Amino acid sequence: MTDSHALVGVALMLLLAAAVQGATPEVEKASAEAKQALRASHGDSEAPRIDRGVDQVARLWRAEDGDAAAFKELVTSEFLPTGEALDGGFQRFESASESVNGYFTAMIRDLRRGVDLDLGPVTSLDRRLAAWNSASHISDDMFGNKLAFVALLNFPLTTLDERMAKGMDWSRRQWAETRLAGQFQTRVPSDVQAKITAAYSAADSYINDYNVYMHHLVTADGRRPFPAGLRLITHWNLRDELKARYADKGGLEKQRMIARVMERIVRQEIPAAAVNNPLVDWNPETNAVTKAGVKDADAPAGRSDEAKADREPDERYRQWLGIFQAERVADPFTPDNPSHIARRFNVNREIPEAQVKALFESMLTSPLGAKVGALIQKRLGRKLEPFDIWYVGFKPRGQYTEAELDAMTKKRYPTPEAYAKDIPRLLRDLGFSEERARFLADHIVVDPARGAGHALGAGRRDDSAHLRTRVGKDGMDYKGYNIAVHEMGHNVEQVFSLTTIDHTLLQGVPNTAFTEALAFVFQARDLELLGLPKPEAKDQGLLVLDTFWQAREIAGVALVDMSAWRWLYDHPDATPTQFREAVVGIAKDVWNRHYAPILGVKDITLLAIYSHMVDAGLYTPDYPLGHLIAFQVKEHFRKRSEPMGPEFERICQLGALTPDAWMRKAVGAPLLAEPLLQAAATAYEGASKP
Ligand SMILES: [Zn+2]
Repeated sequence: MTDSHALVGVALMLLLAAAVQGATPEVEKASAEAKQALRASHGDSEAPRIDRGVDQVARLWRAEDGDAAAFKELVTSEFLPTGEALDGGFQRFESASESVNGYFTAMIRDLRRGVDLDLGPVTSLDRRLAAWNSASHISDDMFGNKLAFVALLNFPLTTLDERMAKGMDWSRRQWAETRLAGQFQTRVPSDVQAKITAAYSAADSYINDYNVYMHHLVTADGRRPFPAGLRLITHWNLRDELKARYADKGGLEKQRMIARVMERIVRQEIPAAAVNNPLVDWNPETNAVTKAGVKDADAPAGRSDEAKADREPDERYRQWLGIFQAERVADPFTPDNPSHIARRFNVNREIPEAQVKALFESMLTSPLGAKVGALIQKRLGRKLEPFDIWYVGFKPRGQYTEAELDAMTKKRYPTPEAYAKDIPRLLRDLGFSEERARFLADHIVVDPARGAGHALGAGRRDDSAHLRTRVGKDGMDYKGYNIAVHEMGHNVEQVFSLTTIDHTLLQGVPNTAFTEALAFVFQARDLELLGLPKPEAKDQGLLVLDTFWQAREIAGVALVDMSAWRWLYDHPDATPTQFREAVVGIAKDVWNRHYAPILGVKDITLLAIYSHMVDAGLYTPDYPLGHLIAFQVKEHFRKRSEPMGPEFERICQLGALTPDAWMRKAVGAPLLAEPLLQAAATAYEGASKP
């Protein structure tokens, strides 16, 4: 960034800061008069509501909203006294919110079809449609038409501290009112919001096209260890391929090769020509690129067979930085949470950053890590290697090869439609009644995904959730199936937490970690759903060790992500190159502290391979939180003898409480790492006995 750019940036920030200052003296005076007038008409019993409501409006009132007289007119005429008037206002807001959110959700889903679904090549028009967030003006509109002020006047804003301290005693209606007003807690202008959306969309497209054509990875002696036609998206498919190779006798060479590819991507040493390109061969060890010696797949548009060795020019970090720069412009508009970090933890997650960090560190510093590492070394019969952070040998799945599992799923699911048709059966086998299974299946639409797969919930009770899954020409492979079962868990949660919930203002779950937790509950049973035997009690203990090892791995990933964002706020003018150097340094540091002592090698950067670091703005902490939450939720279901369905529905219908309140009401305890650590310690004792 040049100096003049930096100056423009500073000027913009000052201007923004001025725009978000509090009420003028005139509005302050009008506030006092309005409060008095309202008390005179509605009585002293309404005084606390009047004072709170008028203050909430004054705080966000700007010159463009009108003068002090307009302010006074609005607050005195729109105040709804407790009783029928307030109840009626609440119901109208709830119904309107569902309608507005629901139709925008459906519209955005339609606009993104070309980019999200595997319906042929992505055109530039598809990208433009996907980048257009037609809902980005809602906040401006709601303040412009004063509906936001009517909500703020009549319903309470609360802080995270208040919700955590008092929420357990609130009624459902109180929670719904809190969520109603909470939508208007901040006022970010639509042009700022649109830039944020565009930055995420650009990063998302970058990641969705980041494939490695595995047959084109060559060894020094010219061999191709991977089969023809295998195209893997970074990082999900690469990591899952690495995991799958534990069941393969000659898998070690392939695992080392994948780990090398990942290191090259993180450090941006990967030749740009080797990304998403079957027209060149690449030796990830020497980094040499040559014209492809075989043809095994059609090349995406615009790829050339020129064997250029130039490295990818820090594009990974330019995209990530783009999200930071866009989010930062919103900071002055959220004075209570003036950074993306604060908004992610206090607003989106509703768990304080310090608490999240402490949870992760308690997992990483537990002496159990070294013990389980030693056990893995014994089971593998070789020294641990860095990529063994992804060891899956505790899982019964390790008993089948990927090819065997692929054959089973491809036969069963030749098309997305075949999977859709099987949903009622899958749900019945998971413990839902015939009637509920059918109801759910009627609310889930299956689409062919371009990426690895995802679940998209609806916003209106009578709309459907969408399950996006990747199905190859010869059917759904095991990876795709495993993801589809996971996404179906999201869909079921999405349907229950919207269509059958008491208040649609409480639609959803506390934050994305909870929907991940519920999806893991489904995903953990994927083999059982294929008709393969249920794990025995001995295997259950090994599964706990597997969860611990996975949670421990992803906790480190989340710490790298969190430190990277802290670094960004300390170095807001960083270049992509500087940022790459910082992330590599952070990844090594977290590795050297928590992984090198167990896995034996220093300065590894594998933790930074996660794609959602690049395209999802501090999303990765939700993965380890998800493991912890999922463990507590799974334990809750495991201890019950009844079928899972009705309890799963009850829990989903708790809706968008704070994580703390949700956990207490769902499983009777707050969010903790100890239940997993204790269960893993017990399982370790069992597994290490001769
Ligand atoms: Zn998920």
